[in-house]
Amino acid sequence: MDLTGLTIDSARSAIADRKTSATALAGAFYAKIESDDPKIGAYLVLSKERALSKAAQTDVLAEKGENLPPLAGVPVAIKDVMVTKDVRTTAGSKILGNYVPPYDCTAVARLEAAGAVMLGKLNCDEFAMGSSNENSAWKPVHNPRDLSRVPGGSSGGSAAAVAADMAVATLGSDTGGSIRQPASFCGVVGLKPTYGRVSRYGLIAFASSLDHIGPLTKTVKDAAIVLRTIAGRDPMDSTSAELPVPDYVAELDKPIKRLKIGVAKEYFGEGLEPETHKAIEAAIQKLASLGCEIVEVSLPHTKYAIPAYYLVATAEASSNLARFDGVRYGYRASGVRSLSDMYRRSRDHGFGAEVKRRIMLGTYALSAGYYDAYYLKAQRVRTLLTRDFEEAFKTVDAIVGPTCPTPAFKLGEKVDDPLAMYLADIYTVTANLAGIPGISIPVGRSKENLPIGMQIFGKHFAESTILRVANAYEKAV
Ligand code: GLN
Repeated sequence: MDLTGLTIDSARSAIADRKTSATALAGAFYAKIESDDPKIGAYLVLSKERALSKAAQTDVLAEKGENLPPLAGVPVAIKDVMVTKDVRTTAGSKILGNYVPPYDCTAVARLEAAGAVMLGKLNCDEFAMGSSNENSAWKPVHNPRDLSRVPGGSSGGSAAAVAADMAVATLGSDTGGSIRQPASFCGVVGLKPTYGRVSRYGLIAFASSLDHIGPLTKTVKDAAIVLRTIAGRDPMDSTSAELPVPDYVAELDKPIKRLKIGVAKEYFGEGLEPETHKAIEAAIQKLASLGCEIVEVSLPHTKYAIPAYYLVATAEASSNLARFDGVRYGYRASGVRSLSDMYRRSRDHGFGAEVKRRIMLGTYALSAGYYDAYYLKAQRVRTLLTRDFEEAFKTVDAIVGPTCPTPAFKLGEKVDDPLAMYLADIYTVTANLAGIPGISIPVGRSKENLPIGMQIFGKHFAESTILRVANAYEKAV
């Protein structure tokens, strides 16, 4: 049996049927990580002790023939922006280089409560700021499908680990596309839920009104299983929604016939690479052949999404990152002359260039005299973008389009050009600004054999609908 190629259900049943044990499964994944990760760079920390003791618990249940929980013995890994008790958590930053959190992120705790085995923590861009994983303070991640290319970002480690069979499923975070874009670049499934669907408790904040936690998996069904496990109200996060969590898995196979699928012309304009365009067109035709009705819609404010996103995100980041001052967490500069010198030097040594750029941009956008011109204006644009979606969703059930304008680019190709890097998010930031759910699924390969992803947006809290469409497509191909 190819243990590291298993999905959630197949892993769980292999353990339940005693074809393998959770301990052996974890061992197989650690062996795979040991042999393959040196050239990929997805993992920052391995939590072997915690993983093996969790696996042993499942094995005791399996031996007794008891009913196993939904993720029993399933090896997962977590983006390093989610805190994990007693396991070093750095957010990809030197400023948290020696930070060992005293508690667990709710999403991680819920996965483990359902039986999952946490293998370790995954590489990412520093504080989740980036689109290529090259902003990690520790090391870049290489795309398992082509090692000369980036895996996408900021959840590059989360996507690469799944693509390279070094975890069955992972958690990522998505503030402007950081789950969907790397999923697309690495050829896996990535889901950003509705804002408020999954608790953010224990997610190190980048931009609080845009941050989301979600799964990266091999199949749509696995994404549904993980979402069902981590979703739902959490008293520790007042923005988590009070709404009941549907059984996303049970709803997967509901027919998609006669669903209305919107195609927004704004997502097929300049900058979209012809090969990607063709692959998305073909996927839309496939949905039509499955009985969906394809309808043209318009999202007229899309062209303002990138500037609005980079104002709101940097403004919130500048405020959130004020807490890293050398006093309470992580790194503190030594040999300082005064308190303000300590703040200044700790932040200067601890933060990387992109993080500093964003703190400066955000502080500027929020400063007296510029607030109205930048921050307030960006918030107004955000409202217009949200209304675009509300209007479109009056006539359609879901909206499809490319996840990214191009397949994975080369390492080093955009590092010196932050604006070019920001444009990699052109199709993903809108869902964060509007708070709607979006999923990226693989729909083809370029001539160079690089994965291409299609994105499906839904109404607020309509994860079931987009999972259903994604699942129908995945089954049909
Ligand atoms: N690439 C985007 C940025 O740099 C999105 C990051 C994210 O979603 N965390 O802000």
